[in-house]
Amino acid sequence: MDPILAVEQAWQAEAGAAPLSDPADDLARLEALRVRFLGKKGEVAALMKVLGQLSPDEKRAFGQRVNQLKDQVTAALDELRAQAEARAEQAALAAGWLDPTLPTAAAGAQVVGLPALGHKHPITRLLDTVIDHFTGLGFEVASGPEIEDTWHNFDALNIPDNHPARDVWDTFYTTRGEVPRTHTSSVQIRTMQAQRPPIRVISPGKCFRNESIDATHLAAFNQCEGLYVDRGVTLGHLKATLEGWVHRLFGPDVKIRFRPAFYPFVEPGLDLDAQCFFCGGGGHLGDGGTCPVCRGKGWLEVIPCGMVHPNVLRNCGIDPAEWSGFAFGMGFDRLVMLQHGIDDLRRLYSGRLDLVRQL
Ligand SMILES: [Zn+2]
Repeated sequence: MDPILAVEQAWQAEAGAAPLSDPADDLARLEALRVRFLGKKGEVAALMKVLGQLSPDEKRAFGQRVNQLKDQVTAALDELRAQAEARAEQAALAAGWLDPTLPTAAAGAQVVGLPALGHKHPITRLLDTVIDHFTGLGFEVASGPEIEDTWHNFDALNIPDNHPARDVWDTFYTTRGEVPRTHTSSVQIRTMQAQRPPIRVISPGKCFRNESIDATHLAAFNQCEGLYVDRGVTLGHLKATLEGWVHRLFGPDVKIRFRPAFYPFVEPGLDLDAQCFFCGGGGHLGDGGTCPVCRGKGWLEVIPCGMVHPNVLRNCGIDPAEWSGFAFGMGFDRLVMLQHGIDDLRRLYSGRLDLVRQL
């Protein structure tokens, strides 16, 4: 008898057999069939050994038929295995012990032998929180280019060329005179140019400055700014909005205070401080040591803010006699450092999992 035909008939007999009633047994049966026909010492491999005894012409035809048989067996086994797995899943569901809606928590994953899932980077988690909070207040998320022209990055924000305030946002310039944006305030300008008030946007994103890198400064960092322009917007709106955010961030009992500050794009300009959530504002720990989070000051500078400067509104074609607004900004990296008591900003970007896994 033709040896290929013999193997083919043996395979047909097995493939045509009814599946075993227990899907687990059936999967074991299919695995045994795979070994018997497709294994290294299986029946198909044995056929290839016959090749050596054939003439070149016979070899080609014989080889083609063996390969066809191998493909046929492989495809049929895959199909039978998929059917058996589906039956196994159905049986597990019917038995009630498999709940596919349960989250694959890291602990659960270890139980069933899967690799543990990771989690988002703390900066991304804060980004999710800020977006969730402010979209809940009716703000939209706006984005803009990371390489900006100096008008959007400086002039429109009331920081004209040669103004000493530009030094505060010292940065890099491209050969075409553009800057990697030094703040996401440029997105506020683009939004006010494109939309008429009322405007409520937050603009999270990467910013860049020519910083000497140390524990609290990086040349690339994450920021989120917010802008609200409407009729009759006052400092009261700013205070209530930011107080709600600080409470979301540090807890409902944390006190805030405002101090006057100068930023060219707001008038008046303010710094919002939050009472240190770590030491409760006393600046010291229970054992008398200096609080490491606020360094003994009792307050944390968290959000520079203020009422949008009339010149900024005018630069965007918005009449300051009719409209007013507030704006605020916050450094994401700094907030994450505060939240988790991290003493060196560079750790957040080191790519080392031993830190990130603790957060
Ligand atoms: Zn403190």
